[in-house]
Amino acid sequence: MDIQSLLDDIAGSVTPHIGQGEVAGYIPELGAVSAGQFGISVATGDGEVFSSGDSDVPFSIQSISKVFALALVLAGDGDRIWKRVFREPSGNPFNSLVQLEHEDGIPRNPFINAGALVVTDRLLSIADNPHTAVRDLLRTESGNGSIGIDAVVAESEARNNNRNASLAHFLASCGNLDNPVEDVLDAYVSQCSLAMSCADLAVASSFLARNGLAADGSAVLSPAQTKRINAVMLTCGTYDAAGEFAYRVGLPGKSGVGGGIIAVVPNNCTICVWSPGLGRSGNSVAGVAALDEFTTRTGWSIF
Ligand code: GLU
Repeated sequence: MDIQSLLDDIAGSVTPHIGQGEVAGYIPELGAVSAGQFGISVATGDGEVFSSGDSDVPFSIQSISKVFALALVLAGDGDRIWKRVFREPSGNPFNSLVQLEHEDGIPRNPFINAGALVVTDRLLSIADNPHTAVRDLLRTESGNGSIGIDAVVAESEARNNNRNASLAHFLASCGNLDNPVEDVLDAYVSQCSLAMSCADLAVASSFLARNGLAADGSAVLSPAQTKRINAVMLTCGTYDAAGEFAYRVGLPGKSGVGGGIIAVVPNNCTICVWSPGLGRSGNSVAGVAALDEFTTRTGWSIF
């Protein structure tokens, strides 16, 4: 498989999709990002990285951070989190309030905002350095010690965070937050505002394709935990379009409203795509098209 030629081909063939959709304007600073960008990187299990397009441009990872927060909580605390968060697709927008009220403050899954707030709350309770835990994991797993928060995005998000504040207060009213709402929101915004490139994110995600093992052979997660996190990514990782993503791409994946998507080919490689234009459900239009083409041409899907 000539992965480099394939990625170059894909970067060409998705051109008509680049700029389609809407950039996430509800976080003003994300709305200012130029939609005409596209990057793709593949990190193989044996440590090679192949890239094409704007793969070295840092972008706001947003909800992709939820995978790494969940990994830290599962690694540090085992299955306890599942008493406070379900693991079913929501079929609702990622920031919906309605379902949370109907279901008594237990979020449908850890990848919608309400679920991620509960995971973040647990991380605040168990991590040694809770405010930098996700960043530190990403630095370690990518090998890039300069990864950090985009302060301008963080501020923009913090100033426009009423919806997440509503979710957090409702969770607290149901007794499903242990830490002060402001602390949870602060940590959540910090992790969403981390900026990374496709190349760094593909490498940082590699443990998900290696049964939980980091590049140096140490365990980030057990094989069973890795199976479960990949399963939740498949069923819940791309908002209320997870069915469509499974149909088109056929891999566990997690998207963010910054336009990035990570996808995992178990025992083979991880892929990160980025293009800021989002479809109706919040997934990158060109990113999904690129992953669709990648798995269709390689046959590297879990189905
Ligand atoms: N920080 C974003 C929010 O809370 C994350 C949403 C996303 O990427 O899905 O709205």
